Amino acid sequence: MEEIISSITIKSESKIVLLVMDGVGGLPQEPGGKTELESAYTPHLDRLAQRGICGLTDPLAPGITPGSGPAHLALFGYDPFNYYIGRGVLEALGIGMELTPIDIAARANYATVDEQGIIVDRRAGRISTERNIELCNLLQQKISRIEDINIIIKPGKEHRFVVVFRGEGLGGGVTETDPQKEGKKPLQAKAVDTDSEKTAAIVNRFIEIAGEILKDSKPANMILMRGISQSPNIPPMQQIYKLNPAAIATYPMYKGLARLVGMKILPIKGETIEDEFIALEEHFSDYDFFFVHIKKTDSSGEDGSFEKKIKAIEEVDRLIPRIEKLNPDVFVVTGDHSTPCLLKSHSWHPNPLLLYSRTCLPDKVNSFGERECNQGGLGRIRAMELMPLILAHAQKIIKFGA
Ligand code: ZN
Repeated sequence: MEEIISSITIKSESKIVLLVMDGVGGLPQEPGGKTELESAYTPHLDRLAQRGICGLTDPLAPGITPGSGPAHLALFGYDPFNYYIGRGVLEALGIGMELTPIDIAARANYATVDEQGIIVDRRAGRISTERNIELCNLLQQKISRIEDINIIIKPGKEHRFVVVFRGEGLGGGVTETDPQKEGKKPLQAKAVDTDSEKTAAIVNRFIEIAGEILKDSKPANMILMRGISQSPNIPPMQQIYKLNPAAIATYPMYKGLARLVGMKILPIKGETIEDEFIALEEHFSDYDFFFVHIKKTDSSGEDGSFEKKIKAIEEVDRLIPRIEKLNPDVFVVTGDHSTPCLLKSHSWHPNPLLLYSRTCLPDKVNSFGERECNQGGLGRIRAMELMPLILAHAQKIIKFGA
């Protein structure tokens, strides 16, 4: 499919805004009630739903609850079952590390162990970011290479950092060393396939040396590693869609995902939703595709806070006219997956979808909500089918075949 799409996409002047409210889909708190989105006061989204065309998307496939990684890949038009993106890779990309296809990346964090090597705090009392930077510098100075593998260490926030192992012969099939509980010793990394035996050995050696270097720096006297994974080789959006894409997101993971498919990460001056919209306004003339990611809808769903999720949706709604003012040729609003407050977690339910463009034939949907979208003209499609539709409405697809 990627090859076909790539053969029929063309460069054009038109502009696209894809606004993703993470986890926006929800459920009523009690039978007969309304969902979060249905409860929210959203006059602007409702107006767009009336003028545009609506539908539902299954994030991956019916019944499959996705992580935000595969769910976003699908939204960007990639087959999420074709590319596996590990957490370590996402984290590395999210803090601005450039990965090559041979790299293995791991999320690491400082932890506290007692004299017997038993973990007493998996997060080392959430040491300060400044202390984290000091310790990462120390580790990097002392461990730049193990055998023929280069080691690249970069601090994140508080107790978190990323380690990239760069060299030939490394596979990404390695288990994590974090036992996920206090009161246990860190685990040994183990290879789950023969291609990853060298990785497991290097990871274990790295942790051993790091433990030795850190032994007097309590509470950060040990490290744990998770999400050890290999960088996937994903063809960028520039190549497949001939787009010049940019991303506006505040959370590292989403910046990482966007960077992975070739998007330029735009600077944002603060952390609020309005700051993200300001970034969009400031850079609107520089790119032709904008992915705008809203995290609050998902985090309030995970917290199970119905009211907070409604507030987050309403906050986005109030800012919608700012995007309308920019007059993108195609404006899409959707979620990557549902995060119903009722479940306090991601779910398999389909995402409400709204597409507005000069070329859409409006349906009878009157407001932006799950059940209204279920009546929409786009029907129910898989999220990975959305991107060709967006490109078509942006007049960036030529006909297939003679
Ligand atoms: Zn998500």
